[in-house]
Amino acid sequence: MERFERADRLKALPPYLFAEIDRKKAEVKAKGVDIIDLGVGDPDLPTPPHIVEALQKAAADSRYHHYPSYSGLKAFNEAVARFYKRRFDVDLDPATEVITLIGSKEGIAHLPLAYINPGDLALVPSPAYPVYDVAVAFCGGERHVMDLTEEHGFLPDLPKIPAQQLDRAKLMFINYPNNPTAATADLHFFKEIASMAEWHNFLVAHDAAYSELFFDGEAPPSFLQTPGGKDVAIEFGSLSKTYNMTGWRIGYAVGNKDAIAALGKVKSNIDSGAFDAVQAAGIAALDSSQDCVAENRLVFQERRDVLLAGLSKLGLSARKPTATFYVWIKTPEGVSSAGMAGALLSQCGIVTTPGNGFGAPGEGYIRMALTVPAPRIEEALARMAKLSL
Ligand SMILES: *Cc1c(COP(=O)(O)O)cnc(C)c1O
Repeated sequence: MERFERADRLKALPPYLFAEIDRKKAEVKAKGVDIIDLGVGDPDLPTPPHIVEALQKAAADSRYHHYPSYSGLKAFNEAVARFYKRRFDVDLDPATEVITLIGSKEGIAHLPLAYINPGDLALVPSPAYPVYDVAVAFCGGERHVMDLTEEHGFLPDLPKIPAQQLDRAKLMFINYPNNPTAATADLHFFKEIASMAEWHNFLVAHDAAYSELFFDGEAPPSFLQTPGGKDVAIEFGSLSKTYNMTGWRIGYAVGNKDAIAALGKVKSNIDSGAFDAVQAAGIAALDSSQDCVAENRLVFQERRDVLLAGLSKLGLSARKPTATFYVWIKTPEGVSSAGMAGALLSQCGIVTTPGNGFGAPGEGYIRMALTVPAPRIEEALARMAKLSL
């Protein structure tokens, strides 16, 4: 019994997925096992030097030592708008259609506070990044789960959502390129969602954290490229995965100006923005040559190819991802997600994420992250050859 009784919203929560995996990993590590960590989605590569140098310079500038502006540094929001124009040919007003975030997770977690009253409904995909579901739950909101299944290319089966739920819904979360399934969505799919949102009057929150991590030259679209996209959607972006900046805590939301203002109002009552010097480094990241991003893609693409070739030799089935740094692997017949992840850890010293940790429809899969060098992936595959399930 804890001395101070926790609020119901905390009591209702399962332990944060990655905290639980960290605990099991520490147990195996304590036994002296050389762990190969394909668990958490944090790139092993360093932030490119020109971005680090921009921070060093900005950190020494006393103009940046004060409270940041609530909506973000004007120059950062303008850099995001330039990036959207260049990359997606989408026009954004940096003053009203862009807001700086302390990492996109922060914005995603705060958005439901702006729109969800107790008992309101949100449409949430599963398996998924756990933050959508938890953030809605924290507001007392109900969730209609949209199952992502392999038969549907891990896209929500839209006609299956009851019309009544669509009418009740105030918010829909989607995420493409997708974590954990590595699926991508095209503009046709976004268009379908946009017209549903227009008709049933809900806000679409698109998490585009992996938009720049694509392979084989196929650049995924922005939801805002959809005609009318800006009328119904807010899109979350992050510098974390694109520029190996997970620790820096810098991201943004763009799109519908009412949604941006509502999120800004929540934030101004909770946080005081991202360090201006980090925003200055973010400007350097967005405005400089994007060669470092192209190099990153090649590194992950090579790792993907090594892993997929090895998995197929081992008789394990996985779709070849065209984006993200994840591989979503089907467990062999009769083996559960937890059973497979547990065996990989105890027999091979390999950390993976059990698919059901992202929601019940993820049962029967495990996720591997391509966040270790290719030779370590080879080593993991060699160990897996001796795996007995
Ligand atoms: C990594 C990740 C994020 C969070 O990125 P930050 O900008 O670092 O907060 C958001 N969504 C998904 C799906 C992610 O995997």
